Amino acid sequence: MTRSELLQQLAVPQRFDLAVIGGGATGLGVALEASQRGYSVVLLESHDFAKGTSSRSTKLVHGGVRYLAQGNISLVREALHERSVLLHDAPHLAQPIPFVMPSYRWWETAFYGIGLKLYDLLAGADGLGPTEFLSASSVMARMPGLKSKGLSGGVQYWDGQFDDARFAIHLARAAAQAGALVVNYCGVTQLLHTQGRVSGLVAQDDETGQRFEVQANCVVNATGVWVDQVRQLDAQPSGTTIQAMVAPSQGVHLVVDREFLPGDHALLVPKTADGRVLFAVPWLGKVILGTTDTPRSDMPREPAPFEEEVAFILNESARYLAKAPQRADVRSVWVGLRPLVKPHHEEGASTKGLSREHTVSVSPSGLVTVTGGKWTTYRAMAHDVLSQCLTSQLLEVPDTPSVTAALQSANPSSQPPVSLTTPQGMHLYGNEQAAVAALPGADNWLLPGLSEAMVRFAARHEYARTVEDVLARRSRALFLDAAQSATAAVEVAAILHSEGCTHVQLSDYLSLAASYHLPSTNH
Ligand SMILES: Cc1cc2nc3c(=O)[nH]c(=O)nc-3n(C[C@H](O)[C@H](O)[C@H](O)COP(=O)(O)OP(=O)(O)OC[C@H]3O[C@@H](n4cnc5c(N)ncnc54)[C@H](O)[C@@H]3O)c2cc1C
Repeated sequence: MTRSELLQQLAVPQRFDLAVIGGGATGLGVALEASQRGYSVVLLESHDFAKGTSSRSTKLVHGGVRYLAQGNISLVREALHERSVLLHDAPHLAQPIPFVMPSYRWWETAFYGIGLKLYDLLAGADGLGPTEFLSASSVMARMPGLKSKGLSGGVQYWDGQFDDARFAIHLARAAAQAGALVVNYCGVTQLLHTQGRVSGLVAQDDETGQRFEVQANCVVNATGVWVDQVRQLDAQPSGTTIQAMVAPSQGVHLVVDREFLPGDHALLVPKTADGRVLFAVPWLGKVILGTTDTPRSDMPREPAPFEEEVAFILNESARYLAKAPQRADVRSVWVGLRPLVKPHHEEGASTKGLSREHTVSVSPSGLVTVTGGKWTTYRAMAHDVLSQCLTSQLLEVPDTPSVTAALQSANPSSQPPVSLTTPQGMHLYGNEQAAVAALPGADNWLLPGLSEAMVRFAARHEYARTVEDVLARRSRALFLDAAQSATAAVEVAAILHSEGCTHVQLSDYLSLAASYHLPSTNH
């Protein structure tokens, strides 16, 4: 469907079973699961799909070694199962990757090794490979970029990694294929109430300003760190001010060249100088270093890193990597906001924390809010949301059971596995490679791994509207090398124009790319 056809559909007077607000991992997961169960679904996203936190993760599909250390066994087991479902469903976008935990103190190998053996046990049949105890020389063979001085050994274990933004687009397309109407750049500005119950919403097309009234039996607020803004819209008719449910915390990632961590293994430092976890993960031809966990009171669309966060990541990396990255080596810096759920937000609402990681709550008017959790468990969260909708009688039990518990992938798992550590390219298109190659400009490379045909495919089939949509989320050029990505912006804009996109926002992109650079000095 073209954009104007999507908007025409949205304008048709109808009543949906479910309206989802927010097109990140959580909202897209709910829309997909609900449409697969046979419900009529509309999903509205104010910006681009995954423009929020869902394109800014560490890109791990993981059980969460950290939660294991906290003794949260059921959470880890659930995430390990979801990890294997996600890896199976999208092998062109998600792959296993071995992690090495180096030991610089004699007891660490045994201590962490035993914990990771438990990780294997919890994974059971979902395991990706056995945990192995390594000598110092085996660690260096796997990870030649590591500092060898004082190294006593290490442990290798397995987790997964993925392309978060492309996977989000994959979910949006799968939901649309299952019958959902999914629309980006169409934010929800108002909730509609009938006799005190939420009965629909008003959304506005970003490009034309056109307003749409949408009726729905059940409205799900899946807006990540922004859930309280939508909860406030819900409370408006009664004139009450809601108590905030979310306290955002930001995480910074720095991207450097592969020469700082050669090889195909990721590094996990289980305890940094101040007790945090640090990752160095090869991804799409670069290395991601991160992350931080810094509370902040505001929630900007493009959060900037704090200077001390950048210093923390560079200093910690310098403790482990033989060649320490400097500020000038950083190709891109991106920041994500984690929605942390406050413990006592539920005044006046019936709340059910269905898992410790995410929360689903229903307001007195029937607005269902879901937040927290992680990318890996998006599907389990969707299940919990739909269970809550059924329990609260906002949805009826469907006539047809769920088509499948797993994602009905447009790219079935018969695809040959691809490595997510190698640079971007056609292999990330799974079984759609021939369709991309058939478009004009298949041999016109705008950047390494980004052809004119890929831009056309993004505009025609992947909901891309702007230069940023293409360079940040259909391709990951902005996240990999901000300066290099800017060199393709003019050409991307021209191709999008020729595909009928009218609001490509070229100059906004150039400013954005500049802001993904670290300033060269500390000032
Ligand atoms: C630094 C960091 C690293 C992480 N790393 C990992 C990892 O490696 N693995 C993992 O499994 N998880 C990870 N996570 C967690 C994971 O990224 C998040 O749990 C997940 O992306 C949250 O998705 P979401 O859909 O709830 O929120 P978001 O992705 O933020 O989506 C919410 C959407 O709602 C939209 N919206 C807001 N208001 C409106 C409105 N009025 N109308 C319409 N739309 C609206 C926003 O534009 C946004 O797109 C990480 C999180 C952080 C912060």
